[in-house]
Amino acid sequence: KGSRFYKDHPRYSKLLLVAAVSGGGVLAYSKSNSTRHVTSDSESPKKRIVVLGTGWAATSCLKNLDLASYDVQVISPRNYFAFTPLLPSVTCGTVEARSIAEPIRNIIWRSGGFWEADCFKIDEKNKKVHCRPVQKSESKEKEEIIMGFDYLVVAVGAKSNTFNTPGVEENCHFLKEIEDALKIRRSVIDSFEKASLPNLSEEEMKKHLHFVVVGGGPTGVEFAAELHDFIKEDLSKLYPKVKDFVKITLLEAGDKILPMFDQRITDFAIEKFKRDGIDLKLGSMVVEVTNKAICTKERSSGEVSSVPYGMVVWSTGIGPRPLVREFMQQIGQANRRVLATDEWLRVQGSDCIYALGDCASINQRRIMEDIAVIFSKADKDKSGKLTVKQFQSVITDICERYPQVELYMKNKKLKGISDLLKDCEGKDNNIELDIEKFKLALSQVDSEAKTLPATGQVAAQQGLYLAKCFNHMQERQENPEGPPRIRGDGRHRFHPFRYKHLGQFAPLGGEQTAAQLPGDWVSIGHSSQWLWYSVYASKQVSWRTRTMVVSDWIRRFIFGRDSSRI
Ligand code: FAD
Repeated sequence: KGSRFYKDHPRYSKLLLVAAVSGGGVLAYSKSNSTRHVTSDSESPKKRIVVLGTGWAATSCLKNLDLASYDVQVISPRNYFAFTPLLPSVTCGTVEARSIAEPIRNIIWRSGGFWEADCFKIDEKNKKVHCRPVQKSESKEKEEIIMGFDYLVVAVGAKSNTFNTPGVEENCHFLKEIEDALKIRRSVIDSFEKASLPNLSEEEMKKHLHFVVVGGGPTGVEFAAELHDFIKEDLSKLYPKVKDFVKITLLEAGDKILPMFDQRITDFAIEKFKRDGIDLKLGSMVVEVTNKAICTKERSSGEVSSVPYGMVVWSTGIGPRPLVREFMQQIGQANRRVLATDEWLRVQGSDCIYALGDCASINQRRIMEDIAVIFSKADKDKSGKLTVKQFQSVITDICERYPQVELYMKNKKLKGISDLLKDCEGKDNNIELDIEKFKLALSQVDSEAKTLPATGQVAAQQGLYLAKCFNHMQERQENPEGPPRIRGDGRHRFHPFRYKHLGQFAPLGGEQTAAQLPGDWVSIGHSSQWLWYSVYASKQVSWRTRTMVVSDWIRRFIFGRDSSRI
């Protein structure tokens, strides 16, 4: 509204201020050559928090933030939160796209503003972000929103990583957003319709119905399993003439799938895929994707082969978004993969910019220091020795704080420690063990254990932590003489962020799921599938989406999945 008013104004050609109040801020419009700038400065006495993103980290922060205490402005190209763990279900119509999306305005409706825009630059020095609106303006000029902030929360996630493999961007599907899932759903049906046309040779049918999934991580595995179920339970009944030509191939460059899971789960998944006829190729690296074929190189033999395909889904991990890459260059972190923050989630070297979720990683310089503290607490008499019981409790403590250590112990990367633990089993409680030995073994994982996994679970916990810090900060300012727990200044007035691993799931199709919960609890099968249903229903961001997701599951049980190509 403001921009149209401004355009009609007689003194349009020069800089002009139009007071268009939005969420307590003033919008100023200025024009330079072909770009129109919309500057939003706060005139509210409240401190302004600008949140970039509407994903797991941002939404968790917004849901828990005391919105009335701050001038909160949210900027994201997506005006909704998407429940990503159910994206593979959307690719096959098990769950509808709208069932997993919650409008962000439903979350910040009480106060706070939302701008549907893409942030392309963070100006740390002047405390401003530069953004481009997603909706194109009626005028031909480019429009730019410049927004000032007191605190900035960068929660823009990451993009799919292609490792610069030729042809991937042009010819493959990704599975990151709801739009991607919908495109895949259409493409699967397209392939079946194309293969059903008359006068096609067997070769052509096979090509159309060859579905390739690249990447054996949880997303690739779950999608392959979901696609298998869709074809077996629904499409093979509707397309009986072509069903025998269908093939699903899962390519993984490493030597195992689901590397972050317990070996028992990996083995079960491999066995299940074998039974289901999913062709799993380990050690197979994709070197190029053309519009007709996918070229792979075997890591062991170096043999290169090329196979025609109907559809390829690329799911090999994540890389930084251009905004984050540019910002990292600006602040001297150019050689990193993600933004480094301290344990209070502040971007290193900055006092007012926070980064969380997939775009950031906590630089846990202190992991070994932490471990040393845990050891010295246990070693009260400073003898350099621990009893078996003390040793076991130290390891439990470390694993709780750094879940990766637990994982490495299970995957035999930390063989030294695993062996020591095994040696201790059933031994006398008074046997003493050498501390230096454990420290040496733990230092093996020092560099690897630093990075938290890029999951919604981490992002959501970080969002909640940061919201609590902001709320606490406000409380302290309002009660300077208040209780001692909220006095003080500086970042150390908050305890550092600690991740609590609650477990993970890997749905493997056929109503079977693998669950790995804390405390070395592994369960695979139909019972875990019910646990999966209950956890994912309870984790929905609102009652609206919860009801829609559950009713989608019931609909699927009764009527099957919908195969219309809408
Ligand atoms: P995102 O959730 O990706 O959100 C990023 C936000 O930033 C989006 O709103 C985006 O629109 C916005 N944005 C992007 N660019 C800009 C910009 N320039 N300016 C402003 N805003 C911008 N994790 C689990 O814990 N469990 C699971 O089962 C699980 N399953 C998954 C399944 C799939 C298919 C996928 C893709 C991921 C899954 N994950 C799972 C991982 C999880 O989704 C991510 O770790 C999580 O989304 C990260 O949260 P985030 O807030 O950092 O980023």
